[in-house]
Amino acid sequence: MTLPRIVIERCHYLAECTEEPGAITRPFASDAMRCAHVLVGDWMREAGMTVRRDNIGNLRGRYAGTRDSTLLLGSHLDSVRDAGKYDGPLGVIVAIAAVQRLHDSGSRLPFAIEVMAFADEEGLRFGSTYLGSRAVAGTLDPADLDRTDREGIAMRQAVRAFGGDPDRVGDDRWQAGPLLGYLEVHIEQGPVLEARSLPVGVVSAISGQDRYTLVFEGEAGHAGTVPMEGRRDALVAAAVFVQAVEAYAVAGDGLVATVGQLSVRPGAANVVPGEVTLSLDVRHTDDYQRELASRHLLDIAAQIAKRRNIGLTTRKDSEKGTVPCSPRLVSALSQAVGDLEHPVLQLASGAGHDAVAMSALTDVGMLFVRCKGGVSHNPAESVTTQDVAVAIDVLSRTLEVLADE
Ligand SMILES: [Zn+2]
Repeated sequence: MTLPRIVIERCHYLAECTEEPGAITRPFASDAMRCAHVLVGDWMREAGMTVRRDNIGNLRGRYAGTRDSTLLLGSHLDSVRDAGKYDGPLGVIVAIAAVQRLHDSGSRLPFAIEVMAFADEEGLRFGSTYLGSRAVAGTLDPADLDRTDREGIAMRQAVRAFGGDPDRVGDDRWQAGPLLGYLEVHIEQGPVLEARSLPVGVVSAISGQDRYTLVFEGEAGHAGTVPMEGRRDALVAAAVFVQAVEAYAVAGDGLVATVGQLSVRPGAANVVPGEVTLSLDVRHTDDYQRELASRHLLDIAAQIAKRRNIGLTTRKDSEKGTVPCSPRLVSALSQAVGDLEHPVLQLASGAGHDAVAMSALTDVGMLFVRCKGGVSHNPAESVTTQDVAVAIDVLSRTLEVLADE
């Protein structure tokens, strides 16, 4: 069987490691993850790597080089609920395939390769993302260990039950010498590559993101007796705002803005809505543009509220700056794509990835692989064997380019 077919087949095998029969649900530190580690550990050893599991629960495979620096490759093995087969695992398995090629031809590079199969990127079990990569980057907040899952199990208990020492997750921080960077292969999770008929794309940056909560406060009243004139309907104000967000983002180059949650109080058919709470998510690869857009959108909300005699309170829930990919790694990946005679497209990632957390430790680069319909976080996720073949070739060629530097 060819290597690309083996990669696809392995993604299918991994899909059997799940908490829910008939669906893929693989949370942090679960039996399903233990199952995944058995498989991935075997594949790493088969590719000539020494394998170990760290305290947080990342599986790490190391392929020695001739000098003491290391290039990290990887992605995550955990999933969302009812996930697809490729978001995460594809990056781990393609990385192992690239090492397998080196092993089969008996080659050593002037640097070691360490493949990281991260324990948690999606945050399904504890609502905290990038646990695995943050442990490696040394930015894991010890307070996270006190988070509890839906069954009341604390993260430190879960880590211990999975075989790690929660008091030593600090030791998971990278300490094995100089790093050349971190490269991640991932499905695109968007429609750009498919629209341009390209198998892969080189990520230029991972978009920054602002999250806000807005509360429109009007006045509840009887739907039958309060006349239309003089109503202070919080939901109508919120609805005008939702439309304004869309119109603003459509007009802005590279801007995406979304109201994804909305709750109406008191929420009865015969009551004029008195209060609406909604979320606002704003993303752009340019931090200045993102901040500007957020400010304008909050201004627009204030104007709508004022016009309608409605109260407004806003709260910033989070702000994440854009993570630029390293020009050196972007150039190595782009050269590899060009050497293999595919058109080179650089594109931004609107979704977060382990590379965000790893950027606190070292240079990061990412290669996106076309996925059918741009669909992800869904059992319908699909990639072709041909595109996987291109991804393996590009990653292998990138290793050669970096080795020649
Ligand atoms: Zn992912």
